[in-house]
Order: sequence, then structure tokens, then C-alpha cells
Amino acid sequence: NLEVGIVGLPNVGKSTLFNAITKAGAQAENYAFCTIEPNVGVVDVPDPRLEVLHKMYDSKKTTPASVRFVDIAGLVKGASKGEGLGNKFLEHIRQVDAIAHVVRCFEDEDITHVEGSVDPIRDIDIITTELCLADLEVVEKRILKTSKLLKSGSKEAKAEVEVLQKIKACLDDGKPVRQAELTEDELALTNDMNLLTLKPTLYVANVAEDEAATAQDDNEFVQRVKEYAAKENAEVIAISARVESEIAELDEEEAKEYLETIGLEESGLDRLIKAAFKLLGLLTFLTAGPDEVRAWTIRNGTVAPKAAGKIHSDIERGFIRAEIVNYDDLIAAGSTAAAREKGKVRLEGKDYVMQDGDVTYFRFNV
Ligand code: GDP
Repeated sequence: NLEVGIVGLPNVGKSTLFNAITKAGAQAENYAFCTIEPNVGVVDVPDPRLEVLHKMYDSKKTTPASVRFVDIAGLVKGASKGEGLGNKFLEHIRQVDAIAHVVRCFEDEDITHVEGSVDPIRDIDIITTELCLADLEVVEKRILKTSKLLKSGSKEAKAEVEVLQKIKACLDDGKPVRQAELTEDELALTNDMNLLTLKPTLYVANVAEDEAATAQDDNEFVQRVKEYAAKENAEVIAISARVESEIAELDEEEAKEYLETIGLEESGLDRLIKAAFKLLGLLTFLTAGPDEVRAWTIRNGTVAPKAAGKIHSDIERGFIRAEIVNYDDLIAAGSTAAAREKGKVRLEGKDYVMQDGDVTYFRFNV
């Protein structure tokens, strides 16, 4: 499951957004097997293809892909130095796939800004500095540990210390490690440190309710965040957390109407999920049958056996072939049988790179 950590200064609208996420939450029954902690919200990835396949296969159930959001409260100036609490909060985000950094872009005299004024770039810098300091601690510890191996003449240790020094220099400059331009090999060496500032990040600009539809292009604060984000190839989406929490109270039909009234095509939450997919280079393949129609999330570039492994490790191990018809071809043909007649159902081997919308049946040896 894709997991996104929400960070930001206090009072920027994180809880409001997070509550919207929890209320819009995916059906609990799908997640009965895991206890969801209070700071974790799971939402379905919207995918209209599932409903179409559900009708075509007359399936008993549909299971959308989902995204887990983890609310990381308590990040303030000095958090990385904080005994216990601050650090503990940071530990929560070590495991996430991506970070959504919420910044305040609405003015409201009634709502105190912890730094005294609305200034999203300063806010981003404060949080980023905390994350850099937390990473610095991890990297320095690792340098000490690896340096001990240098005496033995280990080549690996030497290479690792070089990369660590490069990362340290970047952090010392107050820059996130994702700006250090590490090579694939260098990145591989850093994997198990789970550096926070190496995680793909997108900025969520929380805007006033009446700007929900226009802020993406018009709001001055949002433009500043965009300029800042452009330097690190990060995406910015303008959302009104308050509007999102209102939408979360409505049923599907009402929500659609409400979005239309305020001039939006889709909810901010849906845009956030899409942006996270894009950021991480994720795509969806589908399985369909009378029992279940289901969406699965994989990284771009995943080969067929690995994709099968998402479903079950046995299917990956015993992988023979994947029977694949792309969703669009399937819909154009009208049924699997018709698609087969047209030669649109392909047999793909173990090197096949999965494409978005591949409706897939895996053949495997048990
Ligand atoms: P957190 O500390 O980052 O979790 O922030 P909260 O979600 O608790 O929000 C802090 C305050 O800002 C609350 O009173 C919210 O109702 C308010 N707030 C959040 N989003 C908006 C918004 O878009 N416009 C306005 N005017 N207030 C907002």
C-alpha cells in the first residue's frame, strides 16, 4: 500500500485535512485485518474503470487500490532536538513512501499563525530544516560506524563513507538530500537509512474556502510555493482543507453537485492522490472475474512476475505467463471473448513490463 505522511507546522490545517481523509475513509471492512491507528487514514484511489468492469463481469465485489495517510503532528521549530516527542514523531515518517507537506496559504486573523504571519516559504524552510537536522543525526551516526571499518581496508566502507560525506555536506547546507543529485548506486547505499529529506515530497497549499477553485492559478502565496517547488521538481496542489472536510460529510451525488457549484471538477483529496501517484511513478493494473474486480498499485517499470507477487508470493514464484488485455481494448471489444477473437488478449512472459490499465490473469504453477 502506498503510504503518505502529512507534515507541516501547527495550525496550517493538517488536522482539518486529515479529518476529511478519515471521514472519506475507505470501507472499514476491507481493512478488518489491520488495526488502524488514530493517526492513520485510508482512502480509496478513485478509479471509474472498476465500476465498468464490475458490471461487465457481474462480480461479487470490487476492491479499489488505497492510500494510507499518516498524520504527523507535533513538528515545530526545534522538534529534531526535542527529547523524546519530537524525535518520536519523526520516526513515524521514516517508513512512508512520500511526504505531503501542508503549508498555510489562507489569511484569517482569528487563527493564530505560530510564526506570527502567513509566509509559506518561511514555513517550508522551518520544517525542512527540522527534517534535515533529523537526517543529519542519522548520517553522522552512520559515518562514525562505517569509518571504523575503514582500517580493515574495506572498499565498500570507503565508498559508503564517501557517499555519506556527500550527503552530510548537502544537509549541512540546510538542503534536503533529494537535491544532492545522487546516482543510482549512491542511492542504493542510503536505502536502509530511510532519510526523510530523500523522500519524494509534494506541497499542499491550504487555501481559503472561497479560493478553492481559483487558488491553483491565482493565489499569490500558492505562486510563491510553486516557484520554490519548481527548484526541486516538486508538485504543488492548492486545496482548501475546510472545503474538503465539508465534502467528506456529503454522499457521492451531493459532493458532485457541491463541487460543481464551487467550480471544481474533482475533490482536492482526489487530486492529492493523483499527484502522489504521479510523484512516485505509480500505475494500476487490474484483475477481474466473477468473484472480484480489483485494482493493484505498482511502480512504473514493474515486470509481470513482480506484479503477480503483489497478489501472492506463490503466483510470483510459479509464474508461467500473464494473459493481458488492456482496459481500453477490452471495453472497445465489449467482452473478454470478443477481445480474444480480435487478438487483443496477449500472452506475456516474465520480462513484460506492466502498463497502466492492464487487465491481467496470471497463469502459474503451484
Ligand atoms: P493543524 O494544527 O495543522 O492540524 O491545523 P488545524 O487543521 O487544526 O487548523 C487550525 C485552524 O485553522 C482550525 O481552526 C481550522 O478550522 C482552521 N483552518 C484550516 N483550514 C482553513 C481554511 O482553509 N480557512 C480558514 N479560514 N481556516 C482554516
